[in-house]
Amino acid sequence: MKTVSIVISAYNEEGNIEKLYEELEKELSKVSNVAFEILFVNDGSKDQTFQKIEKLIEKDSRVKMVNLKRNFGHEIAMTAGMDYAKGDAVIFMDADLQHPPVYIPEMVKSWQEGYEIVLTKRVDNVATSWFYKLCAKTFYWLLNLLSETKIPESMPDFRLIDRRYVDFLKGFNEQDRLFRGLLSWIMPNDKVKVIDFVAPVRFSGTTKYSFIKSLQLAISSITQFSVRPLRLATYLGFAGAACSVLLGLYVIFEHFIQHNPTPGYATIVSVVGFVGALQLITLGIVGEYIGKIHMEVKKRPLYLADLIEQNQKDDHFEK
Ligand code: UDP
Ligand code: MG
Repeated sequence: MKTVSIVISAYNEEGNIEKLYEELEKELSKVSNVAFEILFVNDGSKDQTFQKIEKLIEKDSRVKMVNLKRNFGHEIAMTAGMDYAKGDAVIFMDADLQHPPVYIPEMVKSWQEGYEIVLTKRVDNVATSWFYKLCAKTFYWLLNLLSETKIPESMPDFRLIDRRYVDFLKGFNEQDRLFRGLLSWIMPNDKVKVIDFVAPVRFSGTTKYSFIKSLQLAISSITQFSVRPLRLATYLGFAGAACSVLLGLYVIFEHFIQHNPTPGYATIVSVVGFVGALQLITLGIVGEYIGKIHMEVKKRPLYLADLIEQNQKDDHFEK
């Protein structure tokens, strides 16, 4: 019998674990001819998430936990889950019930029909404000403008991936990773199905992505998939040089032809200030990339984890 692993990343989700398990149990019982592995990834939670998952492991042998030794972030948590998942297909989902388990039977059925990747498209997210939606839109517009790998908007990490593509994804070793970007990189043209859904509000707790954290993720996503911002420095340099030449010509014209010398330090101060700011911005962009190289060349393990399942406990350094 084929198996499907369900990988659930959880960071401080104590209020959601039991409810999610209940819903999963209900939905998984509707699927026949498939065995399930429910793999929680505890991403260094500081609340009772670990204990709640442990309780589930005691009563249900399908439940396992990849326990990360500290908080490594959602992207690494999904990577750890993918590395430990044994299934012929892997479903990724959040722990807060914003990825409703009710869609799992349809995802599995599509996979059984031959689709190798089943994506979900969030047609609406009732939990987010117009400001967040605007920021997300701007981010995806900028990302797709700058990057050759196109990453569609509103495609959350709730998806099923066949083992063949899971193995491809395991081939990416970068520290700094945007899962949906990596998936776009390997996305086939066929055998992909998209299921629409409306994301409900979180069942319990609050979002783990503050505005600053989202901004950091946005900047690192752009640098991961594009070097075009680096070229911006060159373009700005050319544009600045052209402006200086034009300004020089204007000053000469005023002085010798119009006999009206351009007065004042104000122009000089603003030009110097503007050029200084441009230099700082471009230095910042270059710095972002150098920082990334610095982190990547060390080739540190992506995470440190152990696997907890019924009657067994392993310690691992991974990758
Ligand atoms: N998450 C995680 N590690 C983190 C942050 C979040 O594993 O450092 C998990 C979190 O528990 C949730 C999922 O990633 O299951 C998505 O996070 P969240 O719901 O806060 O994001 P949002 O839905 O608000 O974008
Ligand atoms: Mg959420």
